[in-house]
Formats: sequence, C-alpha cells, structure tokens
Amino acid sequence: MTVLELRDLRVTYEGGVPAVRGVDLSVARGEVLGVAGESGCGKSTISNAVLRLLPRGAKVEGQVLLDGEDVYGMSFGRLRAVRWATASIVFQGALHSLNPVRRVGAQIAEPIMLHSNATRRAADRRAGELLEQVGLPARRARDHPHQLSGGQRQRVLIALALACGPRLLIADEPTTALDVMVQAQVLALLSSLVRDMELSMVLISHDLSVLGSVCDRVAVMYAGRLVEQGPAAAVFDDPRHPYGAALAGAFPRVGDERFRYGPRGLPGDPPFPGDLPGGCEFHPRCPVALDRCATTDVELTALGDGRSSACLRAAEPALDLRGAS
Ligand code: ADP
Ligand code: MG
Repeated sequence: MTVLELRDLRVTYEGGVPAVRGVDLSVARGEVLGVAGESGCGKSTISNAVLRLLPRGAKVEGQVLLDGEDVYGMSFGRLRAVRWATASIVFQGALHSLNPVRRVGAQIAEPIMLHSNATRRAADRRAGELLEQVGLPARRARDHPHQLSGGQRQRVLIALALACGPRLLIADEPTTALDVMVQAQVLALLSSLVRDMELSMVLISHDLSVLGSVCDRVAVMYAGRLVEQGPAAAVFDDPRHPYGAALAGAFPRVGDERFRYGPRGLPGDPPFPGDLPGGCEFHPRCPVALDRCATTDVELTALGDGRSSACLRAAEPALDLRGAS
C-alpha cells in the first residue's frame, strides 16, 4: 500500500523560481525512502509541499497523495487533522525551534491535546512514554530545552513528531547539526522506530552515506529534479548517474579501496533554479559529459531492477561515472 505519492510535483516560488520541476515519488507502507542532494536542490521544498507548508505565493502543480487522498484538495479542517496524525515532519534546523521557555514535556503534550480529547494529565503521561520511546527518561519532560544536549533535543523533536501517531515521518536533515557519534545514535533510533511502529519514512540528507545505512530506496535530486533512483545499496555501491557517483564518492567509507586516494571532490555548486543551464542541468560539473549533454534534455529513465537514471550515458557498459582515469 502506498502511503505517499508525488505525481509530477512542481513548485515555483514567488518571483518564478522553479525549485521543484516535475518529481514523481512514492513511499510504501513501512518503507524508508532517502532523498539525497546538495543544498539548494529542492529537498526541503518537497517535504514542505507534502503538508502544504510552503510560503504564500509558492505555486504548486501536480499532485501530492497521502493514503491516496489529494492533499491540495483537502479542506483546511481535514488538512489540520492530517498534519501530525497522518504525516509529520522533523524540520531542518528544528534543533533551535523548541520553545526555550517551556518544558519539553508540555511542548509534546500540546499537539496530543489538540488532536484528541486527552486530558492534560493523560497527555503528560503520553509525553513521558514518548520520551522513553526515543531513549530519554520520562523525567526529562520537566527539563527546558537548554538543559538538553543537541542529540537529546533531536530526540525530543522526534518524540514530538510521533506524538499523534503518524504513519509517515518526514525527517529533513535530522542529523546534519549533530556530531558523528550522536548522528549514528539518532539514525539507529529512527530505524528502530520505523521498524517497531511500522512507520514509513522519508529521510532527507545531503550525505549519501547516512541514507545508505537506513533506507530501502534512495532518490537523488539535482536542480529540482530526480536524477537517479534505486535500492539504497545499489545507488551507493554502483551509482548510475555521475551526480550520484560524486555524492557517493564525497563520503568515503573506511576500508573501501575506491576511497584510498581520498574522496573525489565535486567542483562548483548546483545551479540557482532561476538560472539553469540547458540540456542536462548537471553537464557543467560532470566529469564524463559529452558535447550533446549540453543540448539534450534528459528524462529519468528506467534501467531495470527498480533503478532509474537521468544520464544519457547511464546504460554504457563499464563507464566509470566518477570520471576516474
Ligand atoms: P534543499 O532543501 O535541497 O537545500 P530547498 O528546497 O530549501 O533546497 O531550496 C530549493 C531552492 O528553492 C533553492 O534555490 C532556494 O534558494 C529556493 N527557495 C527555497 N525557499 C524559498 C522561498 N521561500 N522563496 C524563494 N526561493 C526559495
Ligand atoms: Mg533543505
């Protein structure tokens, strides 16, 4: 059963900035989908579009279906019920967004009371249970955010996202602000929650190695489009798009001989959505680009085995997409 489906999703911000340009994605029940890509590629725009949280003036085209229901056709009352209870988001940078003057338990209890008939007392008890579920003692509910470490605050935010029992969790760069050890703990927590609670998750990160360890499938975004999609291990070990290859190469794994000479840096930055190059958007940075890549539009194309790529050269046998000599 499909929990989330995006059909040709397009988002254009005020002023004509086409941040997302035709994305098709689906997430099945119990599945973890990773979305990778450098900063500015449109990842947060997608996550905000799912729950209609984009700023006023942003134009959304295409469809977002949650459990088969079109999010953009919902009444505001229906939308309010769906936010938190069907799908919830752990926002990028949310580590700083807990209210500093309120106890964390009260902040978790609030959506519970808004979404159910729970009494204050029952909601507080539930908040304590949620904290235990994310690996914090229930008594930490009495703490204020500044009394918690970065990793503990991230756990609180995950507890908050789980407060109303969503079926889908969207985690936008949930570990980016954390140090490596804490990052691993938070990822382990997310994967165990997904497994135990049979949640679906969209996990967004610029770090493909974060996604490789947790996700079933990975979609790689570049300049507002998907350029590669497939089973996580396959995308990491054998990328079929030079951009996926560059991302995989940017995060070396100890013991893998391909990384012996250090990660292969990718020069430059993704293009600004208002000023895209013609042809394949990646061609100016691509180590294996041909002349025709500058003039030919490329579509995401199925390669078999659940994989797809938007590279003209994806099907060439034995092509080293990393451009290694
Ligand atoms: P990512 O999460 O992958 O870093 P975003 O979705 O945040 O990317 O942004 C995608 C593009 O949309 C960027 O070029 C960004 O500058 C632009 N953008 C994001 N939010 C707005 C906004 N409110 N108004 C105009 N442009 C925006
Ligand atoms: Mg983002």
